[in-house]
Amino acid sequence: MPGRSPFIGDTDAKHLSSTSIPEKRVCMQHIIVIGGGVVGLTSAWWLAQAGYGVTLLERAPDVGSGASYANGGQLSYRYVSPLADQGIPLKAVRWLFQADGPLRFKPETDLHQYRWLASFLAHCRADVNRRTTTKLLQLGELSRQAMAQLALAVPFDSFGWRDAGKLVVYRSRDVFEQAAGKPGAGEVWSPEQCGAREPALAAAQHLLAGGIYNAGEAVADCHAFCLELAERLRVHPRFRGIVHGEALRLRAARGRITSIDTGAGLLTADAYVLAAGIQSRTLAASAGIKLPLYPLKGYSLSAPIRLDDVAPEISVTDFERKVLYARIGDRLRVAAMVDMVGEDLRLEPKRVDGLLRLVRETMPRAADYSQVAAWAGLRPATPGSAPIIGATRYGNLWLNVGHGPLGFTFACGSASVLTDLVQGKAPPFALDGLTLRR
Ligand SMILES: Cc1cc2nc3c(=O)[nH]c(=O)nc-3n(C[C@H](O)[C@H](O)[C@H](O)COP(=O)(O)OP(=O)(O)OC[C@H]3O[C@@H](n4cnc5c(N)ncnc54)[C@H](O)[C@@H]3O)c2cc1C
Repeated sequence: MPGRSPFIGDTDAKHLSSTSIPEKRVCMQHIIVIGGGVVGLTSAWWLAQAGYGVTLLERAPDVGSGASYANGGQLSYRYVSPLADQGIPLKAVRWLFQADGPLRFKPETDLHQYRWLASFLAHCRADVNRRTTTKLLQLGELSRQAMAQLALAVPFDSFGWRDAGKLVVYRSRDVFEQAAGKPGAGEVWSPEQCGAREPALAAAQHLLAGGIYNAGEAVADCHAFCLELAERLRVHPRFRGIVHGEALRLRAARGRITSIDTGAGLLTADAYVLAAGIQSRTLAASAGIKLPLYPLKGYSLSAPIRLDDVAPEISVTDFERKVLYARIGDRLRVAAMVDMVGEDLRLEPKRVDGLLRLVRETMPRAADYSQVAAWAGLRPATPGSAPIIGATRYGNLWLNVGHGPLGFTFACGSASVLTDLVQGKAPPFALDGLTLRR
């Protein structure tokens, strides 16, 4: 492999016996995956399993330190409806005027924000939302199966996976009745049932109009998953190591990517996968490809659960407030907010305090809030919430980007689809709406 020397890389991948790894066709092709978040790591794993030699390029000292670090932990295979929907523009205006509302907007001088917003508004139609939801449900189901397959190598208990089920609670009667009336919505619970079956909600049940429960959705620790997967990759016979360096530019000639300029040297391979979260936008632009991505900033809070705390067993979504609650290991994780403020990762005290107030009101005894840790991350989002997987105009450049609010959920399915495409195989379902051409 060329060009590893300029970097502080991991030690060489050890060549262990591959008894637990199904042998696929022997293939000498070498692929560099750019980005060691949950999407890049799963891509690297699936490609290595398919027989490719894989190198991971990650600019941070460790994997999983971008958006994949302290996200909501939901593996939300069926709750996938895009944010862009009929009626959302009006709701968004109301949210902007709420003190602790789920949305913030800070105008930028860069036109990118306005272009993305214009495209988002164009996606706010019931028919577009339905079409995208159908595709995301297919990707979700594939992701569920792919995650179960991966669990043979990365056991569920190594990253706090729990079959938690999902309860979506509603505060407004109208919104609740509308949701409950949809065919196949799930089990409809009264406020009292919400409080009885999920005691973490008992103190707030008087604020609720009701809830809808669905079994089969899971939660897990995305960061722990990234670390575990990186460990398994390090001993994979076809994994060539993690190179710690920053990709600055993709160099192209005659319809192919020839190398990655990393500032400290060039890296070359037979093919390249771009999976660098929100930074994929800049890297793709260096090769003349416009990616419709915008960083939707979100916050999470994590607080330790004590013996006498009533932490949620079920994963709870507060529909109107757009807040997720899940117990991940021995911590309560709360995730929320969509702030359109560019690539600004600062923790705004007002946002953190507002979220904490809401959490204390909704689940007052769920955790020790005096020890809360706040975090912010950038969801790499497309206007219609569908990721972009697959080919580009360069024969050897592939994309796995734009997973927005559900990158953990879709990572395994996306990696498996990407690998099919790189191998020249037909994907398991038609990918219209999930590719660069949309
Ligand atoms: C508050 C919040 C809550 C969320 N909750 C959930 C949830 O409950 N369920 C769910 O499924 N999803 C959730 N998400 C979304 C999910 O976290 C993201 O979709 C997912 O982490 C994106 O993964 P990624 O690998 O594409 O990006 P990242 O995790 O950001 O990884 C990109 C990696 O690329 C590296 N990189 C960037 N630029 C370069 C470069 N030039 N050279 C080398 N390396 C580079 C970065 O260092 C980083 O490690 C949430 C997100 C947020 C912010």
